[in-house]
Amino acid sequence: MNFSYWEIKSWLANIDFTVVGSGIVGLNCALQLKSKFPKANIFILEKGILPQGASTKNAGFACFGSLSEILEDLKNHTEEEVFGLVKKRVEGLKLLRQTLGDGKLDYQQLGGYELFTQHDDLLELCLSKKDEINNLLAPIFKSEVFTLKENIFKFKNIKKHYIFNAFEGQLDTGKMMEALLNKAQKKGIKVLNNINVEDFSEDNGSIKIRTNQFEFSTSKLFVATNGFASQLNIPNVKPARAQVLITKPIKNLHIKGTFHLDRGYYYFRNIDNRILFGGGRNLDFKTEETTKFAQTDLVQNKLEELLRTTILPNIGFEIDHRWSGIMGVGNQKKAVVKQLSDNVFCGVRLGGMGVAIGSLVGRELADLLH
Ligand SMILES: Cc1cc2nc3c(=O)[nH]c(=O)nc-3n(C[C@H](O)[C@H](O)[C@H](O)COP(=O)(O)OP(=O)(O)OC[C@H]3O[C@@H](n4cnc5c(N)ncnc54)[C@H](O)[C@@H]3O)c2cc1C
Repeated sequence: MNFSYWEIKSWLANIDFTVVGSGIVGLNCALQLKSKFPKANIFILEKGILPQGASTKNAGFACFGSLSEILEDLKNHTEEEVFGLVKKRVEGLKLLRQTLGDGKLDYQQLGGYELFTQHDDLLELCLSKKDEINNLLAPIFKSEVFTLKENIFKFKNIKKHYIFNAFEGQLDTGKMMEALLNKAQKKGIKVLNNINVEDFSEDNGSIKIRTNQFEFSTSKLFVATNGFASQLNIPNVKPARAQVLITKPIKNLHIKGTFHLDRGYYYFRNIDNRILFGGGRNLDFKTEETTKFAQTDLVQNKLEELLRTTILPNIGFEIDHRWSGIMGVGNQKKAVVKQLSDNVFCGVRLGGMGVAIGSLVGRELADLLH
């Protein structure tokens, strides 16, 4: 098919900036570029019908690390790095809420809880380090972050107490992405779906991009493909699939908040009188290191078992939907935000923190261009 003169003139010619990926990072990058260069012609290319990575698939926790997650991070990162990461997550969430407003996000600060399985001594370790971590984070929160609470939700097969974090919130992931996409489109940013960027090359001071549909040139290229980064030869990012399910609405659901179970390998929350429940990657890390969207019996059966035995004991429930999303992970928790060549930049590897840090990473990615 040949493009018409009009299609070429209005869409494909004189593209200043091209962003690959319409997730949280790509959209925020494009918005920041537009506010810095209002006249710029900006394209976002997205391989999915909808954004198709992690940003429309996640659990919508507005969180910055459970106590055990922070203790685990301290094993591989310095105290300064861990403090910096928590601060970044807090600031990223602030930016997200400022950009879209709490109403559009359906943001609610219902608190976060960390639950501990009965035969694990992790709670004791967390309690012994609680004051130390609260002190470390005091400059950020100005008060005690982690406190001890009784099992008010009557979960089964867990320790009698859990760690509560009053600062943790939750949001509606779909509403967040819808609002971000609307905002980008209102500012004149063009989002094209079903376009897979296959490769790119430097071409006389600009970048030539080959997609599954057409080829074109752009002055600058911003890659925000997260878990799919290696497909465009960006190193040190591995895909990590995360599986999720959601129940049908449950009458008088008493559970409200965001919950981290078994060292964060499992997570659940309330939404629309349902329980959204995900995790279980630790059951088979190798199989879950993939960019392929799918559910496995191993993980889905375990999620259902935990719902039955631990989260919703004695409560009838039915599963309504199951899905998976693809994250980008690496040997360090830091996102990779860097210039790859004169005209190419990337912001990838957000792990399980992108709701929190995605807005900031998108902005940082755009700001690599001075
Ligand atoms: C199940 C699940 C639960 C999660 N829960 C939470 C949570 O509660 N809180 C939290 O903070 N974080 C959570 N995360 C992580 C968070 O969702 C991600 O860190 C964040 O969405 C990453 O955003 P992104 O824009 O970098 O990547 P993505 O949203 O993955 O966006 C990348 C986009 O690039 C597109 N793309 C890739 N390759 C190409 C190509 N070659 N051409 C064109 N387009 C391409 C993809 O289709 C995709 O839309 C969760 C993730 C998952 C999967």
